[in-house]
Amino acid sequence: MAGRALYKIVACCLVRQLGNEAKLVYDVKMENTYSSNSPQTVKIPSSNRNPLKPQKVTVPIESKRELKNPFVIPGLQKVKIESQLNPNYNFANFVEGDSNRLARSAGMAVANKPGGTSFNPLLIYGGVGLGKTHLTHAIGVEIKDKYPDKTVLYISSEKFTQQFIDSVKSNTRNDFIHFYQMIDVLLIDDVQFLSGKAGTQDVFFHIFNHLHQNGKQVILTSDKAPVDMQDIEQRLLSRFKWGLSAELQAPDYETRISILQNKLYRDGVEMPEEIVEYIAKNIKCNVRELEGVLISMIAQASFNRREFTIELAKQIVDKFVKSTKKELSIDYIQKVVSKYFDMDVATLQSKTRKRHIVQARQLAMYFSKRMTKSSLASIGSQIGKRDHATVLHACKTVDNLTETDKQFKKYVEDLTKKLSL
Ligand code: ADP
Ligand code: MG
Repeated sequence: MAGRALYKIVACCLVRQLGNEAKLVYDVKMENTYSSNSPQTVKIPSSNRNPLKPQKVTVPIESKRELKNPFVIPGLQKVKIESQLNPNYNFANFVEGDSNRLARSAGMAVANKPGGTSFNPLLIYGGVGLGKTHLTHAIGVEIKDKYPDKTVLYISSEKFTQQFIDSVKSNTRNDFIHFYQMIDVLLIDDVQFLSGKAGTQDVFFHIFNHLHQNGKQVILTSDKAPVDMQDIEQRLLSRFKWGLSAELQAPDYETRISILQNKLYRDGVEMPEEIVEYIAKNIKCNVRELEGVLISMIAQASFNRREFTIELAKQIVDKFVKSTKKELSIDYIQKVVSKYFDMDVATLQSKTRKRHIVQARQLAMYFSKRMTKSSLASIGSQIGKRDHATVLHACKTVDNLTETDKQFKKYVEDLTKKLSL
């Protein structure tokens, strides 16, 4: 009854303010429909009059309580959380080889006894396309299989960061933290992505400590070893080093063959051995590319009705090798040049005027100009904070010396070879 009286008052005010065309619509969201995508809405028009378009007034009622955050559902003790695991990435199809044996075995050990080994956290690191994501999922899948009651969550660092930013915006930071503290096995992919993100690192530090103290398992992946990670807080880096850091290396020839054969077998495709060998010989440092060549071959064969031939393999491999020949980084050039002259990068960058060091520095500048798209200024600033004129001078000196000094010419040739590999 009270509601009806209120309704009358509100309707009356509206008509007074907006004229006879005004219309009051109740928009009633039914209780207990939080999780549904389209909450039931009951609209109660004040009369049969035509609605006045811009004046739709919605009166919120008390029971229309919105679920403020996506992380906590009130009233539920144990929340069911989707693991976000890909069942196709499992141990059965993660081919073992010398390059991954340590990481794979550690992963297995962790899967058998999550939180119960000294591999906590387990940090899997290695270059792109070497199986970090695959192995991480495999560990999660295995744990889910063995311990269905454990709450396992796989998440990329990128997504984790985004969720954290959203939680700060919507004032639900604590709920975000609570959510992650409920997880039994947390798998975080590509933690190098957290570099430079102080806020996310801070929140992750707290979550990590809580999980670790409570015997929960944390598994991390990164494209670098902890010692080489940049812009990650020291206290977090020290946590990363607590357990085991296991490297995934580029697979050797036999492992590459096994990976290719394994994939062909699973896809039910037969391919002449010499072609498999050709691919394995030419794609060396990235399993994703190895698979990519195979997928292109199979596509060509089935869509264009082409036979599996060495020529086809060569065409496809060439495309892969060319398209992935990346621009060198100035960092890399400095490393190669310093190593060639048996000095460290800091020496190469130093202010010293010792002749052999000056020459090494000038060569690093010269190759950076020749092999990257960076400007003279940018090269200078990255090689010991020099200005663009110094770099220009270095390039001219190298050109001159190459013509006049045999030994120096040899340096340039050797380094060209090393950098072009
Ligand atoms: P990363 O995360 O290190 O960049 P991924 O885990 O995404 O690499 O691996 C790239 C591809 O190579 C995936 O399709 C994965 O299944 C495959 N792969 C990597 N290592 C292996 C392996 N040892 N056995 C079978 N497939 C592998
Ligand atoms: Mg990955």
